[in-house]
Amino acid sequence: MIAHSPRLLTALFLACAAAAQTEAPPAPPPAGPGRALTPEQVAERLATFKTGLLPQVMPPKIATDEQARAKYLAKWQAVMSEHYLLFTNGPTTTCRKYAVSLERLYEYVQKELPFEDVDHLLPCYIFATREEYFAFCVQIVGWSPEAARATAGHATAAYYATYYESPTAPVVFHEATHQIVGACLKVSGVGSWFQEGLAVYFEKKTSGEKPAGTIKNDLKRGDCYPLTEFFAIPVLLSDPKGNGSRNYAHAGALLDFLINTKLPPVAGRFPKFLEAARAGRGFGRGAEVSARLVKDVYGLTVPELEALWRQHVGVK
Ligand SMILES: [Zn+2]
Repeated sequence: MIAHSPRLLTALFLACAAAAQTEAPPAPPPAGPGRALTPEQVAERLATFKTGLLPQVMPPKIATDEQARAKYLAKWQAVMSEHYLLFTNGPTTTCRKYAVSLERLYEYVQKELPFEDVDHLLPCYIFATREEYFAFCVQIVGWSPEAARATAGHATAAYYATYYESPTAPVVFHEATHQIVGACLKVSGVGSWFQEGLAVYFEKKTSGEKPAGTIKNDLKRGDCYPLTEFFAIPVLLSDPKGNGSRNYAHAGALLDFLINTKLPPVAGRFPKFLEAARAGRGFGRGAEVSARLVKDVYGLTVPELEALWRQHVGVK
C-alpha cells in the first residue's frame, strides 16, 4: 500500500465531481442497500473517469489521435458488484471474475475481522496492459517509472489498481486486502509489518495456504529479525538487507499468531488491537507506535510478545 498523493486525490475528486455523458455501460448486477448505484449513476462515474483520469494514462499516440482516442475510451466499462465498482478495459468475462474474487475476499475478511459495510462502493481500476497501469502509477500517483515497474498492483483506502492478469492470482487478494484494511477496517498505520502482515495473511488464507508457512524453521535457525527490529522496518519489501520476501512471510505468520493464538494474554484480543490502532495511535508507524499498542492491548513488552510467538509456533 502507499500513501495518498495530493495529485491522486485531485484526480479522484475530479473523477467523482465532474459530470459527462457517454454510452451506458452493461447493466450492473444488484448491489447492496445504501451502496447500490443506479445505471445512470454508474454511467456518470464511468464518464467522469474517462474524462478526468484516463486522458492522463492513455498512451500518447492514442491521446493525440481523435479516432484512436474514441475507440480506446469506448473499450472502458464499469462492473458493479455488491461492494465494488470496477473500471476496466480488460476482457469483460475475466473482469467480472475479478469482481467475484474481490467479493470472495471481502466476505472472508469481514467474517474473520468483522466490520461494518462502508456506504460506498470500493473503486478498482483494472488496466488491460502493464503499460497503462505503469502510466497510472507515474502520472496519477506520482511514482518513479522504476517504482511503478516494481509492482503488479497496489491499493490504498481510496482505490485498488492493477493490470489485467489472472483474477484469482494471489496478488489480487493481497492488494485488495490493503484496500479493505484502509477503507473498511480503517487502520492505516501501525507499521509495514502490520499492513503487509494482514495482506499476506489473507492472501494465503484465501488460497488455502498456511499463513504460518516455514516460520518454525526460520525462528529455530534464528533466520529472522528480533521483533523490535522488525517493527522498525519502514517498508518490509525494500529491506536494504535483501530480506524482502522473508519479511513478508514472517509478517503473515506474526499476524496469524496475533489473530489465532490461544495463548493468553494475546488470545482473542485482536479486535482490541484493531480498535486501538484505529483510535489514532496506529496512524503513526514504526517501532514506538507498535510497542505502545502491544503494551496497551496485551500488557506486554515487545520481547515478551516475541517469546509468546515462539511458544505459539513451538520454538523454545
Ligand atoms: Zn502489500
